[in-house]
Amino acid sequence: MIDIKHHGAVKGVTGSCHELVVGSSGILIDCGLFQGEEEGNGASASDLSIDFPNSHIRALVVTHVHIDHVGRIPYLLAAGFEGPIICSEPSAIMLPEILEDALKIGFTRDRALIKRVLGLIRSRLVPVPYGQWHTVFDGEGESLSVRLQMAGHILGSAYVECEAQSDDEFERIVFSGDLGAPHAPLLPEPQPPERADRVVIESTYGDKDHESREDRRYRLKAVLEHALEDGGTVLIPAFSIGRTQELLYEIEGLIAEFKGSDPSGSDPTPTDIWSNLEIVVDSPLAATFTRIYRDLKPFWDAEAIELVNQGRHPLSFEQLTVINSHEDHLNAVEYLAKSHRPCVGLAGSGMCAGGRVVNYLKAMLADKRNDVLFVGYQAKGTPGRDILTYGPRGGWVELDGKRYDIRARIHQVGGYSAHAGQSDLVRFVSGIEPPPSEIRIVHGDTGAKELLKSQFHSIGLKGIMIPGLA
Ligand SMILES: [Zn+2]
Repeated sequence: MIDIKHHGAVKGVTGSCHELVVGSSGILIDCGLFQGEEEGNGASASDLSIDFPNSHIRALVVTHVHIDHVGRIPYLLAAGFEGPIICSEPSAIMLPEILEDALKIGFTRDRALIKRVLGLIRSRLVPVPYGQWHTVFDGEGESLSVRLQMAGHILGSAYVECEAQSDDEFERIVFSGDLGAPHAPLLPEPQPPERADRVVIESTYGDKDHESREDRRYRLKAVLEHALEDGGTVLIPAFSIGRTQELLYEIEGLIAEFKGSDPSGSDPTPTDIWSNLEIVVDSPLAATFTRIYRDLKPFWDAEAIELVNQGRHPLSFEQLTVINSHEDHLNAVEYLAKSHRPCVGLAGSGMCAGGRVVNYLKAMLADKRNDVLFVGYQAKGTPGRDILTYGPRGGWVELDGKRYDIRARIHQVGGYSAHAGQSDLVRFVSGIEPPPSEIRIVHGDTGAKELLKSQFHSIGLKGIMIPGLA
């Protein structure tokens, strides 16, 4: 028997955790945290314990190290999971870093315990190069191999091809993980799998297409110029991994292209803005990941490598300041909230549900000179979603139990996403020859899943399912 079960990312986009059952054994694909109102079968943002049996689970395969895909790994270990953690080589470097941070925030302040958990996780890591088959188990009537392919979502991200055999059943099953948008900065775009009998695919943006790379870049430029004209600060809530580095890469490119001296020197002009722009990344974690991104250039795409060969430093440029300590963080909040110089602040979490960005929001939302720019998906029930919904109508948001009026301008550059858009998802599946006999749509809001489903139908694909939907 070969079967697929979903333990998360069914009623929303977070808490990714899927199980591939092969006879009496199984593997997990991701083990992530729930965020906002989203929940799994029993588990939720407030109850993280593993709510399914795991004694038959032979391995965990990690598609990428975003917290909604890996955050429950410590709980999986606590529940008695003893198998290896299989992931790409960059992910193996990044995983302990992100889990250390998650443990400090949500698990315990006991350093010795954190060290023990991280030591345990490190001892279980099995880095596997992209494009290489890895045998997970090969026994009496049951075998399973997995192969990771670049997913173009964040550094180290992968989709997983599984070659499963149970008695006389043979199947190739593909789990998409999170897929990146083509032409995203820094990373090569994902290629469709060579073959698949069944596909489990994400649908975060299953309902829409993104703007083109150029449109999106100029929109980012326009929003920043417009926002910075009045001397306020632009705050960008962003995940520490992925979008922060993409944005730095894009902003460095915009500075390189548009900075110059302004001969009149009177009113602030766009050229002034780009010359004087300060970028502040306020997150020790983002700083760590920006360093890892810089160190792992072999995994960059050709365009980014070309810039480096020209002597550019896309992820470490002059106008960039990185903030680590808590004291510097508090100073930066005060400085950015009151500064009359053009400033962009990047801080996490990306959905404003916690982290340093919350202090910035509290200090900045009441001032109409300030701007908040959303570049990522905002899940239902998160403060980010509320700011995006109620901010433009002069509403308020609750942060740490207190109401904050929103006078700052709110923007969204929706095309700026580390996720594939609808046509990209369709291209991923339609590139599989012959077409898969079953497609399971997960990891999206209901509307996005339905629209992606009808899109798949319209090109003649069959066996499309939305798990968890009656
Ligand atoms: Zn992700």
